[in-house]
Formats: sequence, structure tokens, C-alpha cells
Amino acid sequence: MSLVSMKDMLKKAKQEQYAVGQYNINTLEFIPALLRVAEAQKSPLILASSDSMVDFLGGFRNVASMVTILYDEMSITVPVALHLDHSQSVERCKQAIDAGYTSVMIDGSHYDIDTNIALTKEVVDYAKSRGVSVEAEVGSVGGEEDGIIGYTKYADVKDCVRLVKEANIDALAAALGSVHGPYKGEPTLGFKHMEEISTRTQVPLVLHGGTGIPADQIQRAISLGHAKINVNTENIQVWTKALRDKLKEDENVYEPRLVLLPAIEAVERSVEQKIKEFGTKNKAN
Ligand SMILES: [Zn+2]
Repeated sequence: MSLVSMKDMLKKAKQEQYAVGQYNINTLEFIPALLRVAEAQKSPLILASSDSMVDFLGGFRNVASMVTILYDEMSITVPVALHLDHSQSVERCKQAIDAGYTSVMIDGSHYDIDTNIALTKEVVDYAKSRGVSVEAEVGSVGGEEDGIIGYTKYADVKDCVRLVKEANIDALAAALGSVHGPYKGEPTLGFKHMEEISTRTQVPLVLHGGTGIPADQIQRAISLGHAKINVNTENIQVWTKALRDKLKEDENVYEPRLVLLPAIEAVERSVEQKIKEFGTKNKAN
């Protein structure tokens, strides 16, 4: 097999009421680690690179080649999508697709809805004929991502319906009170709004800022049409903590492999937990 788009993965998840996790590639070591966990758990997987991280990771072609080669080299059998997260331009989406990404998110949420739809349509036109899935966003997820501070702005139901119908997207990120980065206090998701958007669009919904949302709210979001949950903050927090602990407890260590191993293992344990929580364990078939 080779990499797949998110389309069938999310359709199945929505039907069977679970959510596929999107886990971000923060260093290249994340790639084999995330593939390893997904395979061990027999779980579908969405590997993502945030647009702003792509250069740090060596460029689109480097990321896509590594994922493709490792998929083969590690004899991975579970469905894996490689997704571009929060792309700010049509051009970057096209570059990712040309390099081998199987899914892209065009984030035109900070524009007016007509511009957002136009941008998204342009990406969909390019992506569909190449078998690539497209995610788009309405409203504003709070917190900071890629240096941009967002204030929370609930997605407008009419805008969601228009974007889904007019641009024919595969997944919709409708901002409903979730936040990128750590929460200050308990998050409150707009469930009434969520239900209406899900019923009227019928498209798989995406929950951004999945870290720190209590398990009962996650389950409710899944039951109301969320088929994809993005988790990153939690993974990089455990990564950094394990690294810091290792350096503190062993002042003589200098070999990068020994320094990084506990951090990578911490991410694997964290993702394993998410896979169970989101219900994707044993769903890879
Ligand atoms: Zn996001």
C-alpha cells in the first residue's frame, strides 16, 4: 500500500463514531515514532506538518520522501495520510501536493467568507484530480499557532454550509471554542452550534487544539460529527519534559540518540493513549 488521503478514513470514522488523531511532525524523529505506534495499535494515522514547520523539516519533498520510504521500510500496513496543516496559501498547498502530500488544509478563516471559499475552491480543483483530500476552516480557533494569536470566534453556521457545498471539501474545521496551545481554565465547546453545523453540512468535522479537552467533551464532540482531532501541544510538552529530565538526571550524557530516546518514547506513550481515547485502536481495516 501507499499513503492515502483522509477522505475514506474520515468517512468511516464518522460512520462508526470515532475520531482519527492528527499528530504533528515536530522533528524528523517523530515520523518513525508515530508510524510505530499506529502500526502497533492497528490504528489509522494522520501525520501532519504545520506549514510553518516545513522549512525546518527540510522542505515538502524531504518530509514526503521520508514518510513514504519509512512506510515501506517499516512494513506499515495501517492507512496513513500525510497532511499539510494550516496552509496560508494556495501555492503552498500545490507545492505539498506535488511533493507527495495526500491531504492539505487551506486556512482562509481570517479572510471574509467569499475569499475563503474562493481560495478553498482553487485548492480543491487542484487536489481532487490528484486524489488529495482538502480541509478548510471557518471561524477562529483561539490561542497561538505559528506565531499568530487567534481570538476565539465561533464558526457561523451559514458560512460553514456555504464553504462545504460551494467548495466541496472533505473535512471542515469549524471553530467552536477550542484553543491552540494550553487552556487557561476549563474549555467550553459550543455543542449546540456543533450539532447544527454537523447536521446541516453532513461533512466530517475537525477539532483543532485537542490538547486539554476533558474526555467527556471529546466523546460528545465525536458523537456530534467530529471525525478528526488534532493533537500537538500535549505531545511536545511530554517530549520536552522527558528531554529536560534526561539531561538533568544524567549530566554526563552527550550522545544524541541517548538524549532523544526518552523524549521519543514519551511521545509514543502519549499518542498510544490518544488512540485509545479517540477509539481508533484496531480500526485499521
Ligand atoms: Zn489548528
